[in-house]
Amino acid sequence: MPGTVIAGGGSKAFRLPKGRALKLTNTHGTQTVDMWALRDRDPSEYLSVEHTRRMLFNLFPQVGQPLFSNRRTPLLQLEADSAPGKHDMLLACCDKWLYQHYGCAPGHPNCRDNFVAALFEIGIDSLQVPNPVNLWMNVPVTGDSKLALEPPISRAGDFVVLRALEDGVVVFSACPMDISPVNGGKTPRPVMCEILPD
Ligand SMILES: [Zn+2]
Repeated sequence: MPGTVIAGGGSKAFRLPKGRALKLTNTHGTQTVDMWALRDRDPSEYLSVEHTRRMLFNLFPQVGQPLFSNRRTPLLQLEADSAPGKHDMLLACCDKWLYQHYGCAPGHPNCRDNFVAALFEIGIDSLQVPNPVNLWMNVPVTGDSKLALEPPISRAGDFVVLRALEDGVVVFSACPMDISPVNGGKTPRPVMCEILPD
């Protein structure tokens, strides 16, 4: 099945029925991708990293583990991960206020706007922007509980496979960040999403 290219700095939403899986490939290896998931029929239920951390007692998701909603429903399963262990679940997505904080001119693309735009494209108005799972975003936690922002350790072609445990919508934003090192100091690069056959 041909995949869908998500432009570097762009976003896309995919409907994923219960039981279906998708594969997201980090084509160039340097790209952080913010990911959200919502229940298809009720977008007020969404993948919640806060609830997932509590349910897993883990800061970061691992292969074989479900990702939980704000109502503690398992929504997605991380079924495969070619570069395991480095998917941030601590930091909010980038937004216009973060770029303002960095001194950028107004209008810098950002994951928050990308999330809203991708959902709007498939007919969903979201009043809230949950905190995402930041795929491949490298946010190490040190022994004294400090956080850092480091370049991704993923390689070109690394991928994750996510399976829907409920009918849902999955949104990806190939993060437009070009200031901090979360995209390896590179211009935002495209990634590829394939809905896998049953
Ligand atoms: Zn971003």
